Amino acid sequence: MLGHGDPSFVAIFGRVLSRMREVFRTKSAQPFVLAGSGTLGMEVAASNLFEPNDTVVVVETGVFGARMVNILERQGIRVVRVTAEVGDAPPLDAIDKALATGNARAITVTHVDTSTAVLAPVRAIAELARRHGVLSIVDGVCSIGAEAMHQDEWGIDLVLTASQKAIAAPPGLSLLSLSPRAIEAIRTRKSPVRSYYMDLNGWLPVMQAYEAGKPAYYATPAVGLVRSLDASLERITKEGMDAREKRHERIAEAFRAAWRALELEEIPRSELCAHTLSAVRYPEKVTPELVARIRAEGVAVATGLHPQNRDSYFRVGHMGEIGSAEVLTTIGAIERALRAFGHAPATSGVAAAQQVLTER
Ligand SMILES: *Cc1c(COP(=O)(O)O)cnc(C)c1O
Repeated sequence: MLGHGDPSFVAIFGRVLSRMREVFRTKSAQPFVLAGSGTLGMEVAASNLFEPNDTVVVVETGVFGARMVNILERQGIRVVRVTAEVGDAPPLDAIDKALATGNARAITVTHVDTSTAVLAPVRAIAELARRHGVLSIVDGVCSIGAEAMHQDEWGIDLVLTASQKAIAAPPGLSLLSLSPRAIEAIRTRKSPVRSYYMDLNGWLPVMQAYEAGKPAYYATPAVGLVRSLDASLERITKEGMDAREKRHERIAEAFRAAWRALELEEIPRSELCAHTLSAVRYPEKVTPELVARIRAEGVAVATGLHPQNRDSYFRVGHMGEIGSAEVLTTIGAIERALRAFGHAPATSGVAAAQQVLTER
């Protein structure tokens, strides 16, 4: 184990921070890495940017938007929720209206809500935020490293993710990227951040020092996890963000073709389907036992997560370091399990996915 002041760790941490700028596509934003999961990143955003009695508009497209509401309300922040049916996203004019009437300081949106597989129109929402002069916060835990994210170009003030999803590193790190406007908002707070560990004013000089090749201390960084993150970010930046987005689009298209061939319906509206995971309804005759059956075939998929309909669908993650081999293996296992439950469509999901993978 390296010490956190060891010159080789200083080089690793510095490299991690500068590679994060490539992943978030930003030159002006400040990256932060803290030990903790994605939820810590959500709490860091809430506790640094806002003070009690501030108002925040939350665009809710599933469980993680609801979690953000919970986090904000626990801190005494007023929340204006803009919701939609499960599988849908609220229309932009509803969001616009909430921003116009709410006296809000900020808007938050979940880029991909992992409970519904809905990909929210974050670019358009960030544009609305700028027009209303409020800060924009994107929970990108299930998107960053796979879906398009152009923090500078889209003018997003805070983007957060975690190490273990599309970044494809072990769990345990929270990654944040804050615009100069967000940093300024934290610097000029009226009251200090209530949490010592989460106070980004304390972490800022540490991140700046490591990126400049010098160690600094606020609280001990998770040295081993930062080294794992370095390995992942090296792979990601070597592949390149454009190529990585295209790979995820191609894979998502192969899965979509398989769902159609297998006569399965997806939870999200078709224009809102994420490229990082699928949420698929069980067909008639098929129960949530399907998930265990697929697991017995050697492939891990997940049950539903949304409290309104969790027993009516399952989820297949297709983010990170995956390619054609994993796509075909996964669809093959699902297809066999479905047939074991008596769902036997005329066309093959594997063949449909193979066709997409061959042509694209
Ligand atoms: C997983 C997830 C979270 C929570 O992250 P943890 O690492 O489990 O704390 C938050 N938001 C989204 C969109 C997620 O997918």
